[in-house]
Order: sequence, then C-alpha cells, then structure tokens
Amino acid sequence: MGMLPLFLTFFVAIFAVTSKGSEDSIAHQIHLLRPQSGSGGGRIPGLSCLSWRLGVETNNIIGWSTVPEACEGYIGHYVLGSQYRKDSKVVTDEAIVYAKSLNLTKDGKDLWVFDIDETSLSNLPYYAHHGFGVEPYNATLFNKWVLTGKGLALPDSLGLYNKLLSLGIKIAFITGRPEDQRNVTATNLKNVGFHSWEKLILKGSSYKGTTAVVYKSAQRENLEESGYRIVGNIGDQWSDLLGTHVGKRTFKLPDPLYYIS
Ligand SMILES: [Mg+2]
Repeated sequence: MGMLPLFLTFFVAIFAVTSKGSEDSIAHQIHLLRPQSGSGGGRIPGLSCLSWRLGVETNNIIGWSTVPEACEGYIGHYVLGSQYRKDSKVVTDEAIVYAKSLNLTKDGKDLWVFDIDETSLSNLPYYAHHGFGVEPYNATLFNKWVLTGKGLALPDSLGLYNKLLSLGIKIAFITGRPEDQRNVTATNLKNVGFHSWEKLILKGSSYKGTTAVVYKSAQRENLEESGYRIVGNIGDQWSDLLGTHVGKRTFKLPDPLYYIS
C-alpha cells in the first residue's frame, strides 16, 4: 500500500471534521501533524520560534532589533545544529547549478558579489557567547571580536566561492564593515580559505547614517559602471540583495541572528 491512500484517509478525516463545523476538532487534527522537535532535536511547544524564523527568512518580519527572548534556545540549536548547514547548502547548491548554466563571456568581467559577515565569515563564536541574537547589538564588543580575526569560514559558501573561481567568475566582497577593519578582514578571509578576490569593498566614513540597501546598491552600481557584469549576488541579509543593480540573480543565506536594513 502506497502513501496515497493514507493521504486520502487524512483529507477525508479533515473534511469530515470541517463539515461538522467544529473548529476545536480541526485544530486538534492539525496539531497532530506538527513535528514535535526542532532542528536541534529539542521540543518546541507550538513551534512559534520556527514560524518566527521563517517570517524572518522570507522578509515578512522586518526591522527587528533582537531575537525574541523565548527563542534563544531554539536559535542556538538551529545555528549550531545540522539544519543551518543544510539550509545553507540548499542555497549554495542552487547557486552552483545556476553558475554552471551561465554563458560566460570569459573576458574577466563576470562578477559575483559576496557579503562577508554570516555569508563568507561566520561570527558564531561571538554570538554563542551573546545570547544568539537575544542580547541587543553592542558595537564595542562586536568590533572587538572582529579585530581578533577569528571569524570562521562558512563551509558551503567557501565551496561556492571555489566553484565560481574555477568557472572563471571574479569575486567582489561588499561589506558593511568599516574601512579601518580592512587589514584584519583581508587576513581573516585569507586564513580561512578565501584566498583572493577582484574587489574588497568596505564601508567608507562617507556612508555613515545610510542604510545597507543604499550603500550596497551604490557599490554595485560603481562596479557595473567599471564594466563588470554582476552575474550573481549572495548574502545573509535582504539588504544585501534588494535595492538597485542587484545582479542577474540573488541568493539568500539563512540568518536568524540579526537584522540589518
Ligand atoms: Mg552579512
């Protein structure tokens, strides 16, 4: 017996409940379908943190400053567990399929834009000690962490980076990190495997006060005016991927730790 009769039985059951008009019964039936554990295997009553994360990833929940306090454990399990890796790999696998399908000109002008934090380098060692996004952002402490140069490579992003290079696509890093973090950022990137690039663009002081959408759009516009074709663009924030000159195709990596507009 295949799965189809089972599904039919289920839908008939739901239909029967619906036709009785009892909303409590419907809720009960649906509740039985809910998975009872999260990405890290922990039980999540009501799954509200999973729904919150989905809302964040789909850009429906915007402008948030911290992870809901009740979701610290859930987000911690998610980012330290296998689901974050799996979700990231789905994105980079799609990016590789897409990159291979491109008719590249091979004139050295095909360019892929990478964000840095939570796209190329992971700051999980920092966030693991600061409530997985529950604690309000502290620029002093975060910058101190950045200056250690101990960001980890996001393995699937590094795989994509190497694949793109092998296809002859140039890499441009565009980051909201300030210019005075150029040396430590470059060293950190090289130390974890991002050994070379066409451009490494950090945020100059003239961009103080503008959003990442405005700043990153302007940087991409500059690149295109220099003759580059942005064939792809990958980031963990929607502000990496929205605005103007976003590239031929964009790829959104998961990041439930913080929001940048
Ligand atoms: Mg980022």
